[in-house]
This record gives sequence, structure tokens and C-alpha cells, in this order.
Amino acid sequence: MKLSTQIFVALITGIIAGFIINLTMATDSVAWLDQNVLTPVGQVFLRLIQFVVVPIVFTSLIIGLTSVKSSAQMARYSAKLVSLYVATAIVALFIGMGMSAILQPGETVSLAGIGSAPEATESPSLINWLVSLVPINPFEALSTANLLQIIFAALLIGIASNLVGDQSKPFVSFIQSLHSIIEKIISIVLRAAPIGIFALIASVIATQGLDLVAQLALYVIGLIAAIFVMIGFYYLALLVFGAKPNHFFRSFSPAFFLAFGTASSNATLPLSMENAEKRYGMPKDLASFSIPFGTALKRDGAAILQGFNALFVAQLFGVDITLSLIVTVFVSALIVSFSTAGVPGAGIIMMTTVLGAAGLPLEGIALVAGVDRLSDGFRTALNVVGNTSNAALLQRWEKRQ
Ligand code: ASP
Repeated sequence: MKLSTQIFVALITGIIAGFIINLTMATDSVAWLDQNVLTPVGQVFLRLIQFVVVPIVFTSLIIGLTSVKSSAQMARYSAKLVSLYVATAIVALFIGMGMSAILQPGETVSLAGIGSAPEATESPSLINWLVSLVPINPFEALSTANLLQIIFAALLIGIASNLVGDQSKPFVSFIQSLHSIIEKIISIVLRAAPIGIFALIASVIATQGLDLVAQLALYVIGLIAAIFVMIGFYYLALLVFGAKPNHFFRSFSPAFFLAFGTASSNATLPLSMENAEKRYGMPKDLASFSIPFGTALKRDGAAILQGFNALFVAQLFGVDITLSLIVTVFVSALIVSFSTAGVPGAGIIMMTTVLGAAGLPLEGIALVAGVDRLSDGFRTALNVVGNTSNAALLQRWEKRQ
């Protein structure tokens, strides 16, 4: 069986196993099974795949830069990608907020038994954020897996390697050799993907409180529906710009399923890059820059979550939905979508920023936190769809296909 088929089968059997465990076993036994088998197996896989993220990004970028010998090209890629990211994130927000306004999920939920509000977090100012992109120490950037700082460091090192000419040859061949080794590790780790995904997804479904899910059904269904509308939008955008959407979705399906199973964009990065180069046919220099760049920045799933959720909370607490509320939610959710980490549950942490900015009660978060993981897989899959679609659109824009 091909790996892509195996991943898909693992996802489906994991979901079925999760339901069987949830419905047939006592709560204690479910907790035991989850803590001692499912979660550890899933975590080992997640950790292994995260192991390769930093070296693959770092080595791919340096190889890309030293082979194209063009820093102007990278500057152009970044400018074009950022403009595509902002335009598509605006579409995502319209869809997320529109879906919440149409379905009114907040009207169907009772406030009884709502938990206490989490601590608010503040989003950094734009200037501070820009300053923080420059690493003080390249090793710290690598050891903390700060993707944007790693991109910055790799750009500097790549450009300087070109400038020193022959003297950088041993370094570049070392990086090339390291890159081949990491690629091999990725192919080995990915063989374990079906087991890891099975365990991760079975754990999610097995431990869900079905009562809570039933109470928040409209919230979860509405969010997932908005995510699928956005995926449909990308299909159309790829079609209109001649980027062969059927071939695109077929090529990247392993990465999308992995994103769904792991709920982590970061963990999906190595497979997204592999799918881009080997299955979709994206030029290496373009894939090795745009996929890590998008993994650090592009989160349409988070944009939809924040827009949808803020209106849900307003409906739930009977807050008047004024134009100024809508604009505040829109702008803060847009910013937050670019700063949500690519790890499971990051979206829920960022809710405090959007709700706080709009003056909405943070207690709403306690209610939806229990069902967050159900939409997280879909959100993450959309984050990866958005990232890879924008890379494919850039490829068309650059006339590289
Ligand atoms: N889990 C998502 C991701 O990794 C982020 C989120 O929570 O929305 O992309």
C-alpha cells in the first residue's frame, strides 16, 4: 500500500477505534488506555517528526540560496507571498464571521456550568514583532525552533556563502550532506506515520465528552463548514490561476491528512515540502522558501476560528453586534492569524487576544476549549492547504510552471 493510502486508512480506522473505545469502555479504562498507550505512541511520532523540522528548513534554505544565487529573488518571493497571504486571510475571515452570523451557534447554547475565564494574553506590537525576527544568536533560533528567525539566519548565511565564493564550498557541501541525511530520516519516520496518526486520532475521539460535543454541535459543525468553504475557495483560486487544482489536492493529500491527524502545521512541514517537490513538481528553491515561510505565518484556519468564535461568544452573552465590534474582531483576528503557533491548541490560547480586544467575555473560551481539538485537525489541514496553495499561486505568478 502507498504511504498516502496508509495514512488515510490510519485516519479512518483511528476514528472508528476512537468511537468504539468512547462508547464501550468505562471512563477509567479509557483514561488508562489513553495515558498509557495512545498518547505515548502519538507523542513519540510527533516528537520524531518535529526532530527533522529545524534541520530540514535550515539546510533546504541554504541550499536554495546558494544554488539560485539570488537574494533579490527571495525578497520578491516574500513580498508576493505576504500580499497573497493577507488577501486570502481576508477571505477566510469573511467566511468565518459570515458563517457564525448565519448559523448563530451562540443562540443554541446555555450558559449554565460555564467555567472561569483564562488569563488574557496580549499580542505584541508590530514593531516589537519585526524586531524579534532578527535572531541574537543563530543557535538559539535553531534550538527554540523559531521558524522566522531560522529563515532570517539562513538568508544571511546563504547570502554570505555566495559572497565568499570558493571558501564556502566545504560548508555548502556539509549542508548538502546533512540535508540528504535528514531527508533519509524523514522517509524513515514517515513510515511510522500511519501508527502515529492512528494513535493520535483514536485518542482524540476516545476522550471526547460526547455530551459537550452534542451541546456545541452547531459550533463545531459551523466551524468545520466554514473551513470547507475556504478549501473550496482555494480550489477555485488554483483553477482560475491555472495551478491544476486536482493535481494539487492529489499531490498534497498526504500532508493534509497528516495535518488533520497531528493538529500541528509545524509537524507537517517536512511532508509538505516533500509533497511539493516530489509529487506536485514545485521547483526546489521555491518550495524550500515558501513552505517554511507559510508554516511560520499562514493560518487561515486560525482566522476562521477567531472570527467565528468571537461572534459566537457575542451571541452567547447577548452582546450587541455593532459595526465597531465587527471591525475590531476582523482586524485583531487577522493579526492573530499570522501569529498563531503551528502546534495543537494554539488557536484557543490566541482567543484571549481577540476577545480581549473586542471587549468580549473571556469565559466563552472555557466553554469551547472542551471541543477545540475536534476543529483543530480541520483548522490545521486548512492552514496547510492555505500555505501550499499560496506557494502554488506564487509558482504561477513567477511563471515557473
Ligand atoms: N493547530 C493549528 C496549527 O498547528 C493552530 C491552531 O490551533 O489553530 O496550525
